[in-house]
Amino acid sequence: MIAFRHIGHRLLASVGGIIILGILGITLTYAMRQEAASIAQNESALGSVADSVAESLAALMQGGHSKVAPDLASRLEKVPGIIDSKILRTDGTEAFVDNLTFERVVQRNPEFEFIPRSIEPVRIVAADDPGLERLRRDGQRVFQYRVQPGGERLVTVMSPVNNATPCHKCHGSDDAVRGVISFTVSMREVDRNVAQTWRLAVLVIATALVGIVALIYWFTHRIVVVKLTEVLRAMDAVAAGDNALRLNAARRDEIGDMARAFNHMNLKLLQTWEQLRDERNKLNTVIHSASTGIVVTDGALRIVLVNRAAEAIVGRDAGEITEHGFLELFDDPEWMRARLENGAGKDSSGILHWQGRILSVHASTIRAGEVIGSAALIRDITEEKRLEARLEQQSITDALTGIYNRRHFDEVIETEFKRWKRYGQPVSVAMIDVDHFKKFNDTHGHDCGDHVLGAIGQVLLELSAPAQIPCRYGGEELIVVMPGVAEDAAVSFAEAIRQRIAALVVDGLQVTASIGVAGLPGHPADSAAALVGLADEALYVAKNRGRNQVRVAGGK
Ligand code: GH3
Ligand code: MG
Ligand code: MG
Repeated sequence: MIAFRHIGHRLLASVGGIIILGILGITLTYAMRQEAASIAQNESALGSVADSVAESLAALMQGGHSKVAPDLASRLEKVPGIIDSKILRTDGTEAFVDNLTFERVVQRNPEFEFIPRSIEPVRIVAADDPGLERLRRDGQRVFQYRVQPGGERLVTVMSPVNNATPCHKCHGSDDAVRGVISFTVSMREVDRNVAQTWRLAVLVIATALVGIVALIYWFTHRIVVVKLTEVLRAMDAVAAGDNALRLNAARRDEIGDMARAFNHMNLKLLQTWEQLRDERNKLNTVIHSASTGIVVTDGALRIVLVNRAAEAIVGRDAGEITEHGFLELFDDPEWMRARLENGAGKDSSGILHWQGRILSVHASTIRAGEVIGSAALIRDITEEKRLEARLEQQSITDALTGIYNRRHFDEVIETEFKRWKRYGQPVSVAMIDVDHFKKFNDTHGHDCGDHVLGAIGQVLLELSAPAQIPCRYGGEELIVVMPGVAEDAAVSFAEAIRQRIAALVVDGLQVTASIGVAGLPGHPADSAAALVGLADEALYVAKNRGRNQVRVAGGK
């Protein structure tokens, strides 16, 4: 099977092949019929010659001129084209040259006289010659063709001389055929005509072949191949990114349909491409104006996108970031790798301290079946963290006094009590209550009282730093938690506080405070509340004993 590279060649081979076969068949049939007709015509002409010889022979015989009969045959040889001519008996011997027939005729008709010839019978054709046999059998004329050593074709005609009624008197009526007129003719003229017919046929076929091939080639090339090539070129152009091309779709056939389909497809492609470009532009605008730093790589971890926020946060321009590489974004490839490896659904975010800032980095691998890239989203959360810390500080700070609030105290005392229980670490508390504060408020005003509480808070902050934890217990009652401080030391610390409060002058006014101290070890307290209760009891004692003094739990 031949594999054609071009559709034009395939059309040429198939359509051309069929038409050529048809023409070949018709021409060959015509040429063969012409050949047969020429031969038949020739045979008919030769038959007419034989018939006229037979008629002449009959006339001579009936006129009693049998002696001149041999001249008839030799005269026939003078006719152009006739090579050899004989009048034979049906056994193949030549008639009229010996005495055989005379003798038989005289036997039948004794009154006839004849002068005998001195010639013996001459055999011209073998008695079993197939042509002669056929003639004897059928009584019909026989044509035998043969080719001469030089290539010339000859035909030998054997035509029967019938035994007609006028012949019966001399020859009897036993044989249907009396003799045979035999002559050989060259077929040169007929064969020349036949050859000419064949030459004409070959010429017709060759001309048809060339004409049809040229016609089909021109037809398929102009109507199909040129248009297909045009479509192919247009497709190549589209593949190369040129969407402006439009094909001529004026034709109403399938090629026209193809051109229209191509134009439609191209238009749709262009629209889709424009939509994608718009989307990409939007996305680019979003990415580049985002406050989050974005760094994107391809499947081989080569950086393909760095937005402005990323440059600002990382502190390097896009070129430097690209040069450093994705894993070296924060000079710590292992850290980045750990984020990427955690990517599949797990936490791939991390907090990073980078150039004095706090960064939140989310890095992950992007998959679409296979890995197509990686991306890092970077946020500078320094301010966020600062605010968070401030809010947390505020949530545990008392606004008026600046020391910790009750909520924080509750947590701290529980923690410290557990630490005492678990590790035996000493802890003491000093409960402070301003003396006659109700009266102070009444006398100087609540605002003035607030100033005093604020000033006491400052004293506690100064004295407590960094180990002690001063808290506002409630109202004008304050409490200092002292982790790791035993009761004796706590009493001394409380005394120092008491003295500083007593020495305070706020808005030209002074106050005193009473302090109850309780510490572990030293008391059988089984809860944080019990420890606070012991301090409260000591405070009660201090109040009762005249205020402005420090008392320790257990009345010491
Ligand atoms: P004592 O010496 O027995 O403690 O007498 P006191 O008047 O201080 O009595 P107590 O401790 O029971 O009085 C609490 C008073 O503290 C009541 C209230 O007027 C005052 N006080 C509580 N919280 C505040 C506050 O936030 N600001 C001001 N200005 N006063 C407060
Ligand atoms: Mg009080
Ligand atoms: Mg008081």
